[in-house]
Parts: sequence; structure tokens; C-alpha cells
Amino acid sequence: MNDTLDRTVAESSSTAVVVPRSREGNSPQLMATGLKKNYHKGPVEVPVLRGVSLAVRQGEFLAIVGPSGCGKSTLLHLLGTLDVPDAGEIYFQNRRIDNISSAQRDRLRNRDFGMIFQFYHLLPEMTTLENVLAPLMIAHGAWAYWKQRHKFRALAEELLARVGLDHRLKHRPRELSGGEMQRAAIARSLITKPSLLLADEPTGNLDQESGRDIIKILRDLNEQQLLTIVMVTHDPAIAAATDRTIRLADGRVA
Ligand code: ADP
Ligand code: MG
Repeated sequence: MNDTLDRTVAESSSTAVVVPRSREGNSPQLMATGLKKNYHKGPVEVPVLRGVSLAVRQGEFLAIVGPSGCGKSTLLHLLGTLDVPDAGEIYFQNRRIDNISSAQRDRLRNRDFGMIFQFYHLLPEMTTLENVLAPLMIAHGAWAYWKQRHKFRALAEELLARVGLDHRLKHRPRELSGGEMQRAAIARSLITKPSLLLADEPTGNLDQESGRDIIKILRDLNEQQLLTIVMVTHDPAIAAATDRTIRLADGRVA
């Protein structure tokens, strides 16, 4: 299965669009078993995740809901290898990823995962176009990036057009609305052609209409590109737009 996916990624890297991937496959694309995570508040250990297990199929759009403070972001950070669990295991495409080196994690996040957040995390001094290109500069290094800059720029412009921002290429984040910033963040998350998008409250800072626009973009990416999406939200109306919803309560999947 890994071979097939590697080939898909290799083939797609020469074209400007994300190549659709199969929905088939028996094993889940992403799987977590028995995840536990505690935080320390002074001398006190506060359990946040008490044994979370889940499986996500390739091409699935999954929502994770639960009240504020229940551990949704903590879980998403573990799945995205931004943090490590105290116990439990995480597998991506049949490969264990919770115990890999930081270099391997960087590679995974650069190649396979896209991430978007409630507050966009765009770089304020860069234009929209530069923000979208930034992951490629990091992934390839200055020289390799420079040699391929025309191809990369075309891809960035295509992604920005897909999220409806082709008229905002030279704007800086402070000149964009919240919805536009999130759309730029989505384009940035897709520039490395990930097969899995992790989204932490992507509409949490937006008005209803902009939030609906973002969900429509995510839904289209899921359906047209078969991009797997795991989205955290506290909003049941937002979760209703996905294929499946799981609820976190008391540190477990309810
Ligand atoms: P959610 O995203 O569902 O709102 P979080 O995963 O952000 O919840 O947080 C779950 C709990 O863990 C909260 O009680 C929060 O205060 C606590 N927490 C989150 N991150 C940290 C941290 N880095 N250090 C200590 N406590 C944390
Ligand atoms: Mg959160």
C-alpha cells in the first residue's frame, strides 16, 4: 500500500493538480489505539486523553466534536505528530508514527500531512502567494526551490484560484478578511500535495457565512481530490457537513 501511495505522490509531483487517490483499501489510512495524554499543572497530573482509539479511512471526512477543553486539539496534535502521547500508538498508512525521530516527523508533515488551524498562522510579512509557497521553500531548500520556482508558482496560483483567492496574490494577511486568511491557509496546506488534512476548528474564528464557505471548500477537496480530512470542531452544524462524527467526552471516544 505504501508503494502505491509513494508512486501516486511521485507521479503527481510533476503535475499541477492533486491526483485523485482511491477510496479503496482495507486498512485505515490513519489509526490510533489507546492514546493517553496528561498535562502537568504544578505537581498535579491532569489526564486529558484517557485511551482514545479511532480509525480513518482513506478519502473519509471525519469530524471530532466535544466541548471546549475536552482534548480535541490535544488529540489532533498527537495525530499530526506535533506532540507525542504518553501511551498508545498511531499508524499512518500502516506505519507507526508516534515514536519516530523528529527528522522523520518533519518529513511526514512536509510530504503527507496538511494542517490548518483556527487562527490561520500565516506569516504577516509575506504576501498570500509567498505564504502558500513557504512550505516548498522549507521542503526543498533555496537552490532546489529556485530551480523549480516557475512550476511551484503556477501550482500556488492554481491552488489560490481553487479557493477563490486569485485576486489576492500580493495582499498581506492584514489586508485579508478572516475567511480569506483561512482560504490562504488551506492553499498553503495543499501545496505539498498531502493525502491527509488535519483541521483544528477551521471555522472557529469566522462568521457563519465565511465558515460555510470554508466547509464547502473542504467538502469539495474531499470529494474531488479524495483528500482525507480529520476536522475538529465544537459546532454540530459544521460537523453535520462531514461523513462521520465522533465525540470526545471524559478523555475517550463516547
Ligand atoms: P479542546 O481543543 O477540546 O478545547 P485542548 O486539547 O486544547 O481542548 O485542551 C484540553 C485540556 O488540556 C484543557 O483543560 C487544557 O487546559 C489542557 N491543556 C492543553 N494544552 C496544555 C498544555 N500545553 N499544558 C497544560 N495543559 C494543557
Ligand atoms: Mg482546541
